[in-house]
Order: sequence, then structure tokens, then C-alpha cells
Amino acid sequence: MKEKVHFLAVADNEPDVQVARRLEAMLRRIGLFSFIQARDLVALKTHFGEENGKGYVRPVFLKMLGDLARERQAFPFLTETSTLYSGMRHQAVGHIELAQRHGFGFENTGMPIIMADGLTGDEELEVPIPGRIYRKVRIASQIVKAQALVVVSHFTGHLASGFGAALKNMGMGCASRRGKLEQHSTAKPSVKGKKCTGCAACVRWCPAQAITVTDGVARIDKKACIGCAECLTVCRFDAIGYNWSATYEQLQRKIVEHAWGVAEAQKGKIAYINFLSRISKDCDCMGGYEKIVPDIGVLAAADPVAIDAASLDLVEERAGRPLTALAYDIPHRVQIDYARELGFGCPDYEIVNAE
Ligand code: SF4
Ligand code: SF4
Repeated sequence: MKEKVHFLAVADNEPDVQVARRLEAMLRRIGLFSFIQARDLVALKTHFGEENGKGYVRPVFLKMLGDLARERQAFPFLTETSTLYSGMRHQAVGHIELAQRHGFGFENTGMPIIMADGLTGDEELEVPIPGRIYRKVRIASQIVKAQALVVVSHFTGHLASGFGAALKNMGMGCASRRGKLEQHSTAKPSVKGKKCTGCAACVRWCPAQAITVTDGVARIDKKACIGCAECLTVCRFDAIGYNWSATYEQLQRKIVEHAWGVAEAQKGKIAYINFLSRISKDCDCMGGYEKIVPDIGVLAAADPVAIDAASLDLVEERAGRPLTALAYDIPHRVQIDYARELGFGCPDYEIVNAE
């Protein structure tokens, strides 16, 4: 059976306010939010954009989605998780400040921002899945505790997963710090000697007593290290390095299994919206922005695999070239193919045009 993916075509550079109005009409018509019950705490998971970055779904869309949820007597909120790498999005306070700067404050969206993984990215719940790599995945706790979830994703190329959309937004974007780390690498962190000040903050936080400071520089005992990334979070001097060495294929499989955990945690209470505009070669975490294909439209569906498969096909169709020629030349359909192998979601879709 084919999964319905609703498609709203947009003109290149069509004003956001106009697209938001048309999208609202489509969402009302298809009843995408009909699963939301009165008093549900509804998490709208999006990406607030990187420092100096322009590639993110604009607040005007989130406001419209929040208003639709509120019409159903629900309590919507915006949510995100901390990044593994240093920068403003590395912890909750800087991340919320950045979101505010990008216009996601309450005054624009009518919703509070509640970080799904707490102050430093370590608040998580384990979700059991029948995966091939994992039997349980570590998901940011408020993603699991929310009573409904709307995954709002911006389609982009990605240097490690080929592309990022709903599956990536869920698998990586909804994972706790340890969940992210599980996906990124099986390697252990190392200390960048020149940057280390010997402050010993990491020593105090390391749960495995794997770090010592000798001659003013931290050293990690790789045998004792359990790869929790606590040191990565607490180091304020960017002195902890990580080898992001998982293979492209394996990274995508891990993303898919974590996405499966999110879908399992919110079974029957989740919807997906993919924006195929301002599509860049790199993901929104990279900050830079250069459009690689004219704006295409917005997709809405109840299935993450169907919406990502449809998004990828539409981008390649519009560009007249495979994504590998537009962004990174790495196998990018692993996410879809692996979901099919697992029996997670439905990669076979039918586009339903809105107009
Ligand atoms: S927290 Fe960072 S700077 Fe301080 S000792 Fe550890 S690695 Fe060095
Ligand atoms: S990753 Fe965790 S266990 Fe390993 S050195 Fe850092 S804090 Fe310690």
C-alpha cells in the first residue's frame, strides 16, 4: 500500500507569509493534526538554525502550526536538543538565546521553547526497538514524554548522511547527547593539548574516572573511557576532540533506528512536515547557506519514510540530477532502503497535490 504524501508546490522565493497561508489551508483540508487531543502537550521539533546561519524553517510557519494545535485545545511548545559540538547550541541556555535571535521567541511564535534533553543534553529515556543495531535507543526525554509530536524539517544535503530531512531530524535531532554519540562514532574522545587549560572540569565530571590532568594537560585513559561524552559537554575551551568516524552507511542506519525509537515512542501521535525550500548543500548546523535548487514546496504526511522518499525524489526531479551531483557524492538512499529492510515506515508513497 502507498502512503499519501500531501504536496504544496511553491514558486521560487515565494514570500514565507504567503506560503504559510496556503500551507495552513492545506493542513486544515487534510486534517493533519486530527490526532491531537484537547490538553495534549504537543512538541514541535524543528531546528532553530546555526549561529549566522539562514537555513531553517522560518518562525512564521511554526507560529501557524502552533496556532493550529492550540485550536484543538492543546498546549504546543517548540523543542530542540543540544549539539555534541561546541558553539551556542551546545547547551540549553545558548541554544534558546540563539533561537530567540532567529525570531523563535514567544512574542513571534506564541510558544515557549522547552529543550527536550535538558540543560546539557543528558536528559534521556531509553526506548526499546526491534532494531538490528540497537535493542533500545536513547531519546531526549521530553520527546518521549510529550503527548503528541510534529516533526518540522528542512530538507538539505548533508556531508555525512547524504541528505537530512524528517528521519535525520528525528534520529539525530531527537536523540540525547549519548544517543547522538552512539550514532556518530564508536571512537573515544581525545584531548587537544594546545587548547587544554588544565582546568580539570572534565576530571570532576567523568563518570569513569578516565581523565587525569598531568603537567597542566588532561589525558584520557581510552581503556577506562565509556564514550559518554560528558567531557565534551563540560569543556568550555573546545579542548575535547572526537573522531566522527562512523561510515556513511552505518551512520544512516543508526539514524534510522533512532528515528524508529522516536516513532515508537509517539505511535499514532506524530505528523511530519518537510520544507523543500532554501535547499542547501550542507545541513542547517553548518551555518552557511547557498541554494542548490530552486524552491519546490512543502510536504505533509503521517509517515517519516514516505515523506523523506518523496522529498528526495522531488528534489532530484526538480534539479534534473541526483543529489550526489548537487551536494555530496556519498550513498544517500541508505536511510530509505534501510527503513524498508527493517519494516519501519512506508517508503512507497503517492503524492497528493494540494492545488
Ligand atoms: S575541561 Fe577541557 S580545558 Fe579543562 S582540563 Fe578538561 S579538556 Fe582541559
Ligand atoms: S567520554 Fe565520558 S568516560 Fe570518556 S573520558 Fe569523556 S567523560 Fe570520561
